[in-house]
Amino acid sequence: MRFFPVFLRVADQRIVVSGGGEAAVAKLRLLLKTEAQIEVYATEVDPVILGWAAEGRLAVVRRPVNAVDVARARLVYGANDEALEDARVATLAENAGVLHNIVDNLEGSAFLTPAMVDRDPVVVAIGTEGAAPVLARKVKAHLEEKLPAALGALVKAAEAFRPAAEALPKGRARRSFWSAVFADAFVPGAAPEAGALDRLLAEHLGEAPKKGRVLFVGAGPGDPDDLTMRARRALDQADVVIHDRLVPKAILELARREAEIVEAGKTGFGESTPQAEINAMIVDRALRGEVVVRLKAGDPGVFGRLDEEIDACDAEGIEWTIVPGLTSASMAAARLGQSLTKRGRNTEVRFLTGHGVDGVADHDWASLARPGSVAAIYMGKRAARFIQGRLLMHGADPATPVSVVENAGRPEERILATHLSVLEPTLTAAGFVGPAIIFIGLSPRGAAVAEVRQEAVS
Ligand code: SAH
Repeated sequence: MRFFPVFLRVADQRIVVSGGGEAAVAKLRLLLKTEAQIEVYATEVDPVILGWAAEGRLAVVRRPVNAVDVARARLVYGANDEALEDARVATLAENAGVLHNIVDNLEGSAFLTPAMVDRDPVVVAIGTEGAAPVLARKVKAHLEEKLPAALGALVKAAEAFRPAAEALPKGRARRSFWSAVFADAFVPGAAPEAGALDRLLAEHLGEAPKKGRVLFVGAGPGDPDDLTMRARRALDQADVVIHDRLVPKAILELARREAEIVEAGKTGFGESTPQAEINAMIVDRALRGEVVVRLKAGDPGVFGRLDEEIDACDAEGIEWTIVPGLTSASMAAARLGQSLTKRGRNTEVRFLTGHGVDGVADHDWASLARPGSVAAIYMGKRAARFIQGRLLMHGADPATPVSVVENAGRPEERILATHLSVLEPTLTAAGFVGPAIIFIGLSPRGAAVAEVRQEAVS
C-alpha cells in the first residue's frame, strides 16, 4: 500500500480549495458533505460555487491563495486546472506541513480523495492508488446498490440507543443484541422502526445466559471462496476458533474480529498437538459458555478425527453441530476436469488414507487394483512407494493413470499426471511439499494432460 486509508477529523477545521473552475466544483461537491469550514480561493469563480457561497455553505476569497491561508488549513486542494498554480499551492502546503491534494496529479499529492459510498456515519472509501479510477466507480456502483439508503439512519438510531443497551451484561449478551439490531441492515428499504430497539432489548434482557456449543466446521481446500455460507456464519459467531494447521490465514481472517484464534497443530508428520489436548481445549471452552468453532481443512468428517472430538463433547453434555465442507478430493477431481464416478468406469469411489495409525495404512489392494477403480488417497505422499508396490503386486495395470493434485483449489496448485509404474520416482522428482491428493485411476481430462505434466516438472 502506497496510500493508507484513514478517516480524518475535519469538523470545524478549515479546508482550503485553490481554484474556482470545474475541478474545484467536483471536489467541493464532496467536501460539502463534511462539517468543515470551506474556503475557496480564486479570481474567477464558477456560478455554482457562488451559489453555495450565497447559501453560506462556504466562503469565497477572490485572490490567489497565500502561505498564511494554507498554514491555517487542515487540508489543501489544488484544483486550478493549471499546473503552475497547482505546483505553487503544493509548495506552500509542503512548507507549512499541511496535507495537500492536487487534482489529477497522483505524484504531486500527499493524499488522495477516495471514491465514496456515503451512508453517514457509515462511509465506505474506495481507492485504487490512482491505478483504476473506472474500477473504483464500478466498486462504488456495486456498493451503492448493496447498502440500503436507510443504513445511516439505522446506525444513528443504534448509536443513540447505546446507553440503554448497557443494561445488558457486557460481552456476548450485548453482542448478540447488536447483532440482532443489525440483522436486516442489508435488506433494501430496511429502516429503523419506532420501538423496535426497545422491543429487542426487552427480549434480550429476558434471555437466559447462553450455553456454550461447538461447531465442527469444514474450511474446504483452502480458498475462502470455497467456504459454505454456513461456515462463514459460524466464523462470524465464534468466540474461539480452534483450527488445523492446514487452514490458511485468508480463512482465519474471516473470523469475528474479537474471536480468539488457536492453532491445534495437526499434520500427518512432525510436530502436533496430542488429540487428547485438543479434545480438552474444545470441551473447556464450551463449558465456559463460548461458541467454539473447531475448524478443519476440507470436510470435518473426512480423516479429521471428528468422532473423538464429538465423543468428548457428548461426555460433557455439550451441544454440537457439524458444518460440512468441500473435501479436498472433490476439489482435486474438479481440477482434473473429471467426475468422481462415471457410468461404465466406476460405480464406487474410495477415499483412503496413506497414513495409518502406525505408519502406512493397509487396504483391500486386490479390489483397488481392478481396472476402472478410482481412489483418492489422502496423506499419501510418503506412502506412494508402498501403495504403488501393493497395487502392482495385486495385478494392477502398470499403465493405470495416476494424478497428484497438490494444494488443490489454492493459487499455488500443481498437478502431476503419471502412471502407476512410475508413480514414486515421478512424485519424488516433482518435489511436492504441500498437501496433496493422489488419484488412482484418474488422469487430467483431454489435452490438458501434456501441458499439466510439463507444469509439474518445471
Ligand atoms: N478433512 C480434510 C482431510 C484432512 S487429512 C478434507 O476433507 O480434505 C489431510 C490431507 O488432506 C492432506 O494430507 C492432503 O492429502 C489432503 N488435503 C487437504 N487439503 C488439501 C488441498 N488443498 N489439496 C490437496 N490435498 C489436500
